[in-house]
Amino acid sequence: MIVSGPTTGGTVTEPHPAIHLTADPGDAAELREGGSVHFIGTATVLLRIAGFTLLTDPNFLHQGEHAKLGYGLRSRRLTEPSMSIEELPALDAIVLSHHHGDHFDDRAAEDLRKDVPIITTRHAATKLRRQGFRDVRPLETWQCQELRRGGWTLRLTSLPARHGPQPVAALLPEVMGTMLDLTRGGDLRYRIYVSGDTLLHDRLEEVPRRFPDVDLGLFHLGGTRVLGVLVTMDAAQGVRAIRLVDPDLAIPVHYDDYTVFRSGLDEFRAAVQDDGLADKVRYLDRGEEYRFGLRDELRAEGS
Ligand SMILES: [Zn+2]
Repeated sequence: MIVSGPTTGGTVTEPHPAIHLTADPGDAAELREGGSVHFIGTATVLLRIAGFTLLTDPNFLHQGEHAKLGYGLRSRRLTEPSMSIEELPALDAIVLSHHHGDHFDDRAAEDLRKDVPIITTRHAATKLRRQGFRDVRPLETWQCQELRRGGWTLRLTSLPARHGPQPVAALLPEVMGTMLDLTRGGDLRYRIYVSGDTLLHDRLEEVPRRFPDVDLGLFHLGGTRVLGVLVTMDAAQGVRAIRLVDPDLAIPVHYDDYTVFRSGLDEFRAAVQDDGLADKVRYLDRGEEYRFGLRDELRAEGS
């Protein structure tokens, strides 16, 4: 099903029609009352929550292959993803922060099912449609897309992100962060923030104002430099972003997979330690999974 984007100009915050999922979530059944984050590599995460299965920023190039970054720029992959596309479970949707080769590569374009819903930016949507994807749902900032199954709703809201300082930003694709809100019967049961490739910027301050009480945050770090210009958060900015969004727990991603990533995990660990944030950060190796309970379960455990 193809859902058209906004039809008029100006500020559009109306949600797209919801994606109604009827198929049984199958092997995710044991996670219906909880969730998990499986770190595949770069910003590629398999996210399971209350029976929904999502994939973020699919990057399945192998070690030694080159990601295309636009304008003929390429970067060599230094790591191996923990999983191949063939090994993925059935996906309800893909969330794509932007269409750069370290987030959506030629393998993803070739091998992912063409009917999987992809929630992304307008810029990426145009490219994805050219690549044959049939259910692409572009969002403007603050616009949302809901997925529903049974009594559960997973609402994805597009957040402001800026992939580089002006005027370099104009040469880079539009990027979005994402807030994922899991609700049942109107109750918020879990809230996940995904930064997307962004620098710390003014509009990020609006995120915690609109979305307080974040349970889990995935932060794209790496201090990526393209032609000498910083285009993703380095360790220091990452720490400030965690302070700003203030999730109960932060997981760093996108930090050591490409030659253009210049600020590695050691630098981030040191910055986290210096800032007294160590209790708030969980480090995942590629292939490692973090499991969590939903809010009601956590309350039940504590009582
Ligand atoms: Zn990136």
